Amino acid sequence: MNTIDTFYPLLKETPKKVVITCHQKPDGDAMGSTLGLYHYLTALGHQAVVISPTNWAAFLNWMPGVDSVVDYEAKTKHADQLIAEADWLFCLDFNTLIRTKRMEPSLAAAGGLRILIDHHQEPQTHMFAYGISDTGKSSTCEMVYDFIVESGGGHLLNQDMARCLYTGVMTDTGSFRFPSTTASVHSMIAHLKQTGFAHSLVHDHIYDSFLENRLRFIGHVLLNRMEVIYEMNTALMVISKADLYKFDITTGDTEGLVNYPLSIQGIKMAAIVIDRDEERKWSFRSKGDVDVNQFARAYFEGGGHKNAAGGRSSASLEETVKRFYEVLPNLAASLGTEVQQTVE
Ligand code: 5GP
Ligand code: MN
Repeated sequence: MNTIDTFYPLLKETPKKVVITCHQKPDGDAMGSTLGLYHYLTALGHQAVVISPTNWAAFLNWMPGVDSVVDYEAKTKHADQLIAEADWLFCLDFNTLIRTKRMEPSLAAAGGLRILIDHHQEPQTHMFAYGISDTGKSSTCEMVYDFIVESGGGHLLNQDMARCLYTGVMTDTGSFRFPSTTASVHSMIAHLKQTGFAHSLVHDHIYDSFLENRLRFIGHVLLNRMEVIYEMNTALMVISKADLYKFDITTGDTEGLVNYPLSIQGIKMAAIVIDRDEERKWSFRSKGDVDVNQFARAYFEGGGHKNAAGGRSSASLEETVKRFYEVLPNLAASLGTEVQQTVE
């Protein structure tokens, strides 16, 4: 993989056909970074399109440009054609092609140049002609901002780009509270503010635009579905299909729920497992040295970042939860507990 700065001169060769994509079920950072880059490449005169591997949460539907995003699962034939014809394929906010789910074969077979911009651990670098992978970055949106400025496009920053890029930095830093919130992050936001950007609007769209059912659901989960395992400084939330059905929960309504137990004094790890149609989907969050990326990789076919990761299981919900209790003692050392027993 060639370094990203060696790609910048190619941006002057317009117009190119460009596909920009991200991981399945895009979150604020995935949607923000792809759309932010889309606005930049369009401003440069390229013919760009964002393809999402799957659908996305309704709370992202206000984002500038979202109406032009192609849902791969809904328009597979059209999307496959765009991928096959693309000169460049930007892969944002994921480290391995499998994170694009059903889109993986087309992406892997594409004849155009694949370019990676990502901040997850252990990237599949051999699959990319150019790219940057930096786990020290708060978000892919911050990296797209760097891409724009370093390639000489800082003067092109407009309010569409600002809204998209702010979204991912805000969501991936927990609204500027995680240790990943560096001086560079604050410098970036200061720059966006200097362009006249109104940040409060983004917070309203992302955090204050849900329906009543979601809040009732959270109340139900915290009251009835959360187990606090004090001897392991861990909390686990288990959500059944019946829970999702009863509260009419859709994509995006469960986002952020995993963070709640970390507000309990002493809790260093929070886990949530949701019984989705095709799989049991895990989210893990941790504090300090507790490495949930390794944990998700080792036991739940997943990965992510040290303090925020996800995974999956094709076993039943009951079996999946049982597995969690079996392997949790392997984290005993970093969770600061006395439990010694370990399971492979
Ligand atoms: P979330 O829990 O919000 O879905 O994901 C937390 C972090 O882990 C995100 O950076 C996300 O991209 C990553 N992640 C979530 N699920 C998976 C997975 O199944 N595999 C891998 N490799 N990463 C995941
Ligand atoms: Mn991200």
